[in-house]
Parts: sequence; structure tokens; C-alpha cells
Amino acid sequence: MTSEPALLPRRGLMFVLSSPSGAGKSTLTRLLLEAHRDLQLSISVTTRAKRPSEIEGRHYFFRDQDEFRRMRDRGDLLEWAEVHGNFYGTPREPVEKALAQGRDVLFDIDWQGTEQLCRDAALAPDIVRVFVLPPSFRELKARLERRAEDNPDVIERRLRNAIVEIGKWFEYEYVIVNEDLERSYEAVRSILIAERFRRTRFTTLAGFVEGLIDEGEALLGAEQPARAGTVRP
Ligand code: ADP
Ligand code: 5GP
Repeated sequence: MTSEPALLPRRGLMFVLSSPSGAGKSTLTRLLLEAHRDLQLSISVTTRAKRPSEIEGRHYFFRDQDEFRRMRDRGDLLEWAEVHGNFYGTPREPVEKALAQGRDVLFDIDWQGTEQLCRDAALAPDIVRVFVLPPSFRELKARLERRAEDNPDVIERRLRNAIVEIGKWFEYEYVIVNEDLERSYEAVRSILIAERFRRTRFTTLAGFVEGLIDEGEALLGAEQPARAGTVRP
């Protein structure tokens, strides 16, 4: 079974996953990337310290504040934001390259970055926004503690920020309450697949339909009455 609309070329989509820290978006991102090799992760630049489990260039590009500012001021970042006291940004070039080739790009960015991307009229039609919520605040706290990658004051700060972040749910088209991981993964994967088939993403659909109708008319040997107004929106 394929998740890719065959034959017809289409625009690449920008698949954005956001959530308060600990709700599970990195886990869902990893599962999506494992199953969809054609999906490209946008690897962000950050000034935050590397966690023990993280790899430079795979999870993030870890840079100091001076280098981050240089990148930002040169216009190398598609969006950037301060999150939990550190800077994070999306390198522009890999994203633009992937989209130009009709590839889909996955973004693990916060609501501030998502808002910035959506303000760009050229990008907005290609953006799909998914927000991940925890089943309860208590569980969010427990997940951050179980993950055991941040020290207690970092966890405390992230939980306080979560209150503001959770309030951004209405800026996203899709919301998943991540209780059971398998079900959440099925949901996020279904959204990706469905969005790939959105009519407006196909770049040659009108011509394809015209061709189908021409073929139908030739085959049936007569002009069919339904033709007028049905080919181009
Ligand atoms: P985020 O990227 O949103 O900060 P993570 O993906 O790192 O969150 O998840 C935080 C912790 O919660 C991780 O230890 C992860 O294994 C765990 N986790 C993720 N989803 C679930 C779930 N549905 N049920 C239980 N634990 C989960
Ligand atoms: P973490 O430190 O847990 O990896 O990420 C903290 C937060 O920063 C998460 O909400 C994550 O989505 C967000 N984030 C990661 N990269 C970027 C980025 O490039 N831009 C923005 N705006 N947020 C990011």
C-alpha cells in the first residue's frame, strides 16, 4: 500500500508538529520519519545545550548565541524564536530546496515559529499544522520527569511555559491528545497521507483532467454535455 498519490506531481507540504514540551512530538516525529523515508526533517539551529542522547546535525545544529545571531541577521533562518530561554531557528536553504523538489518537510517547532511561517503568503498554502496535547497536566509533568534529560529547574520552566503553549491550540488545523502512542501515531500519519491528496497541491491536475475528458470524448465519439465549466476551478 502506498501513501503517495501516484502519477501526478504535487507541491511539497510543510508538516508542522507543535506541542508543549513533553507531550510527545519528538517521539511522533521519530516514528513518522522511520516509516516515511520520503519525509525530510527540518533540522533546527539552537543555542540550548545538547542533551546526552542528542547528536549534532541530527537532532539540532548546536550553536552559540553569536553564531545564531549571525545566521539570523544574514537571513539564513526561515523563522526563529526564543523558547524556554534559548534561541531556536529553522535554516532556510534545506527547506526551500526540498519544497522546490516537491518533497515534504516535517517541522518540530513551537507556536511562535508556526505563526511566522504562516505569515509568509508564499508558504501559507503549503503548511499543515498539528498540535499535540498531553492527556493531563500531571501526565505532562510525569513524562518530562521520566524522560530524565532536563534538570528539575528546566522541567519547572517548561511546565510553566506549557500553560501559555497549550492556549495556542486553536491556531492549528489538527489536534491530537497523545494518550496512547500507537493511536496518536496512526492519527498523525493519517493526517499526513490525507493532506498529500489535497486537490490544490497537485500542480498539473487541471491538465490531467482535460486529458481524461479528451480521451473520453475520443473514445465515445461525441462531445459530452458535462464538459463546460468542469475542468478548471
Ligand atoms: P516532546 O518532544 O513533545 O518534548 P517527547 O517525544 O520527548 O516530547 O516525549 C516526552 C516523554 O514522554 C518521552 O520519554 C517519551 O518516550 C514519552 N511519551 C511520548 N508519548 C507518550 C505516550 N503516548 N505515552 C507515554 N509516554 C509517552
Ligand atoms: P527542545 O529544547 O525540547 O528540543 O525544544 C523546545 C521547543 O522549541 C519545542 O517546542 C520545539 O518545538 C521548539 N523548537 C525547536 N526547534 C525550533 C525552531 O527551529 N523554531 C522554533 N520556533 N521553535 C523550535
